[in-house]
Amino acid sequence: MDLVPAPSGKTPVKSPVVEVEAVEAVDVAEQVEAETVALEDASSEFETDSDGSEDWDTLSHGGDTIQFLRDEQLRDGLVPGACTLDEAVAFRQRLHDIGKAAFVEETIAREAVTAKKLCTAFGIMPPAFLEGAPDESYHPLLAIALSREFARRPKLPQYNTIEDAVRLLQESKNIVVLTGAGISTSLGIPDFRSKDTGLYSKLEHLGLSDPQEVFDIHVFQEDPSIFFSIAKDILPTEKKFSPTHGFIKLLQDKGKLLTNYTQNIDNIEANAGVLPEKIVQCHGSFATATCVKCNFKVLGDAIFSDIRDGKIPECTACPEAIAQEALKPQGLKRKRSSNGQHKDRKEEFDDSSDDDDYEIPTPGVMKPDITFFGEDLPDEFGQRLIHHDRELVDLVIVIGTSLKVAPVAEVPGILPRNVPQIYISRTPVSHTGFDIDLLGDCDVVVSELCRRAGWNLQHHMIPADEAVEVTPLEGHESRHVFKVVGA
Ligand SMILES: [Zn+2]
Repeated sequence: MDLVPAPSGKTPVKSPVVEVEAVEAVDVAEQVEAETVALEDASSEFETDSDGSEDWDTLSHGGDTIQFLRDEQLRDGLVPGACTLDEAVAFRQRLHDIGKAAFVEETIAREAVTAKKLCTAFGIMPPAFLEGAPDESYHPLLAIALSREFARRPKLPQYNTIEDAVRLLQESKNIVVLTGAGISTSLGIPDFRSKDTGLYSKLEHLGLSDPQEVFDIHVFQEDPSIFFSIAKDILPTEKKFSPTHGFIKLLQDKGKLLTNYTQNIDNIEANAGVLPEKIVQCHGSFATATCVKCNFKVLGDAIFSDIRDGKIPECTACPEAIAQEALKPQGLKRKRSSNGQHKDRKEEFDDSSDDDDYEIPTPGVMKPDITFFGEDLPDEFGQRLIHHDRELVDLVIVIGTSLKVAPVAEVPGILPRNVPQIYISRTPVSHTGFDIDLLGDCDVVVSELCRRAGWNLQHHMIPADEAVEVTPLEGHESRHVFKVVGA
């Protein structure tokens, strides 16, 4: 955690309510609120100073939205009165070197630079509503900017090129792989968090006020048919997997896979042959299902045909319990409610009550063990990350996720900062600093990495004669764009 206090009086460090961009706000606001807190607690004992909560693209500040600056804007001198990119980089380095209190002393307190200008060094655009105000007015913003920067893991300067990435793959022995929806989209599995391309557009006709309600546990308890009306669309239909899943399996075969933390609930890692003990399904999965009444558990396969038919799968254990209940003498019937659940019934054995509290016993609904909004995340995540992987990990590879959903979003900040981190996705993220960004279709990126590493990643979706062109992203020595030649 961040142990450096803010300069008293002037710069409250408490972050404002995080107002995520429209698309994300639908998906993550609740989860992040709940989970960030839990994870902060878990990580504080390890003195990490990632607080996560401020690593977003927009923040609200007294109702006005704060605009963030990109390094390109500083480099190109597009913002009047802003730092140059060189100045900004120097200020950031200095902050990490000496800490927040000393940094503020050295800069603002000595009037070496204005708070307004310093905000730009940390990527915050001086807002129009403060124009003309005294420099002190910028102190709260600067506090946000400094906390945000300080929480950020600094990029390791020695890792930049594709060759660096390939060498890291070859030399690392304990790789943590973080994955998200992007590794399954090439299989036609929709990203259910994405508003445009995902499932949410299909949900409008269900009359939900917020599409996220489909994954809300309270909505499920009230009417499971809503979830099961779309479940078939996110259920893996065949035992297929993408080249990227194949890549994770290849890391396992080479004895290099420490853990694959996945946000995906499709359980496709298993299709590729990744061992259950190598996977943490951070949001649960369809691999198993549990009766909401008696907690009877089955393998996901057992309910897949019902799901595909659009039916609500029912518990097979409940009817037996109901039948046994029926055989009992009348007086004992209420000893246990027919569905095994604790209900607010009258006292057990209370025969004086009227009979009108008898319900017709029905079997429970089988709920896939994916984590709904409003449910606790599987414990395994924090336990394994902090008490096992943190000591061992020597390379982090993040694939196909924008890392905006906790808890996976917190992982890069929790792991030791000297462990190199590689990012593979279509677009770079600005809120977390990776050492090397490999941009493009993740199936293409991993197949090219394997080719260069001399590894044999065979998959029917990778053409035998595939040629991939890699070009640096202008202005970034550590960002590289992967494109299939002729595509
Ligand atoms: Zn049951």
